[in-house]
Amino acid sequence: MLSIGGYAINIQEFRKQFPDEETCHRYLEQMIWPTGRICPHCGGMKSWSISAEGRRLELYECAACGKQFTVTTKTPLHSTKLPLSTWFMAMYFMINSSKGISSVYLAKWIGTSQKTAWKVGHAVRALMVSQANAMPGLAGIVELNEKYLGGKPRHQKDVKHKRGRGTAKSCVFVAASRDGHVRASVRNGWY
Ligand SMILES: [Zn+2]
Repeated sequence: MLSIGGYAINIQEFRKQFPDEETCHRYLEQMIWPTGRICPHCGGMKSWSISAEGRRLELYECAACGKQFTVTTKTPLHSTKLPLSTWFMAMYFMINSSKGISSVYLAKWIGTSQKTAWKVGHAVRALMVSQANAMPGLAGIVELNEKYLGGKPRHQKDVKHKRGRGTAKSCVFVAASRDGHVRASVRNGWY
């Protein structure tokens, strides 16, 4: 994601591609719902917009369960009031930093406190994990296999750890593009 033709875009191109909240919102909807809007509460495929003017995120109501949701409901981005453009900036920086970036630097780049940047970093990683397989139609895919919340992997008797999510202490970023370019880097934790 956030790449054109398999190569990371530069900051000017990034600003052109994501000039405002509306653009980011539509892009995020495509990311979260690549095959059409799905109710995060019940999985219902039919819903309608009930947004009022001035809402930060478009609000939908599910036809099946009657509950309301936005594009970030039940995603790692839900607990924040940050503009989506800030999230996209964070994703851009995290994807394009070859050695990983600390929450201190991320805070400077996206203009938040370090505490907020640290949460953003976690959420971006969690989002990438959940979306890695859900956006094959985009030019680039960022995949992440790691124990992104830190700490040791949980060991349970007689339970084989699944491959990927939640099994390793370090994280692996894999950026793959349609033309077959793959770039991977291993990082040790988010600090
Ligand atoms: Zn529903």
